[in-house]
Amino acid sequence: MPTKAFAAQSATTPLGPFSITRREPLARDVEIDIMYCGVCHTDIHFARNEWGFTTFPVVPGHEILGRVTRVGKDVTSFKPGDLAAVGCLVDSCRKCPSCSQGLEQFCQTEPVFSYNSPDKHSGGVTFGGYSESIVCDEAFTLKVPKNLDPARAAPLLCAGITTYSPLRKWNAGKGKKVGIVGLGGLGHMGVKFAHAFGAHTVLFTTSESKIADGKRLGADEVVISKDAAQMGRHAASFDMILDTVSADHDLNAYLSLLKLDGTMVLVGAPPNPQPVSAFSLFMPRRNLSGSLIGGIAETQEMLDFCGRNNVACDIEIIRMQQINEAYERMIRSDVKYRFVIDMASLKN
Ligand code: NAP
Ligand code: ZN
Ligand code: ZN
Repeated sequence: MPTKAFAAQSATTPLGPFSITRREPLARDVEIDIMYCGVCHTDIHFARNEWGFTTFPVVPGHEILGRVTRVGKDVTSFKPGDLAAVGCLVDSCRKCPSCSQGLEQFCQTEPVFSYNSPDKHSGGVTFGGYSESIVCDEAFTLKVPKNLDPARAAPLLCAGITTYSPLRKWNAGKGKKVGIVGLGGLGHMGVKFAHAFGAHTVLFTTSESKIADGKRLGADEVVISKDAAQMGRHAASFDMILDTVSADHDLNAYLSLLKLDGTMVLVGAPPNPQPVSAFSLFMPRRNLSGSLIGGIAETQEMLDFCGRNNVACDIEIIRMQQINEAYERMIRSDVKYRFVIDMASLKN
């Protein structure tokens, strides 16, 4: 099926209209008419080849939400008219030890990401959600709680799960002091989840203008990370710090805020390596880890949690044609707090 999309043709060209082909739904496939797609900073890293492994043309977008139009004959959990969502994963081997534990993002054969992954059906690469529609195996298609605003739910598919999963794994909750670094798409969901789980939540931001929003979103305290005196007051006090920053920054400044056996978890992915001093890790003993999105079952668990607790993203809706301007604003840390593309704008 010829499908309208937006693509980057090279690392230095702005995104523009592009036509892709979506497969006819196979027996276990769900075809979704995309209503909304969130804009993740990963989309920018890929469109500009900042990580060095983009295959062009690339159609970004992995916070995909829409309505089911057709299903294959063996599909049991979706029917035309249902709301459905697709996140960062569209397939995996489904057999390896990681897949068997519901950690498809760490598939030992190869997780298939929603864009820029080898596509066994087309022989090319997968194309993401900056498009009219997507076809996805039902095993990788998520159910969307009916009480959530669909536009505000779309970014849960990446920004939501990427913060929910590490906060759960490292037991952010009552009695814990948890820091979230950066108030962007991921960070604002990190603040909401840490607060919802009952942790004492501290936001670290470089933007003085975000202090009031940080508190409104659920932070108990907001620290301006450029102010050494403010940082120093929190020395060796955190159980966990979740770092969502997309660009170069000093990890040691945050490691020094962890208490004995505290853990800093990187989810932000700056293109350059970030230096870590050994002293930051053993004065006192501390952990540095990372986390990648979340598996399919945990993504559904997160969506259901959001439905039950009425948690959704703070968004600014844009037209597809505004994507290049949205990227520039994200790079300036000027997004409150996730851009979501109204995909109807692509059809007109
Ligand atoms: P975003 O909306 O652009 O937010 C990033 C935030 O980081 C900014 O709002 C800003 O917050 C802070 N920041 C930016 N530049 C900074 C700098 N030079 N120094 C200090 N702070 C800075 O991005 P996002 O969509 O949340 O994504 C964040 C990162 O996570 C990206 O690298 C993305 O690729 C990565 N990511 C990883 C995963 C995963 O599974 N691990 C999943 C999704 C995204 P303040 O204004 O508050 O300082
Ligand atoms: Zn993402
Ligand atoms: Zn696997």
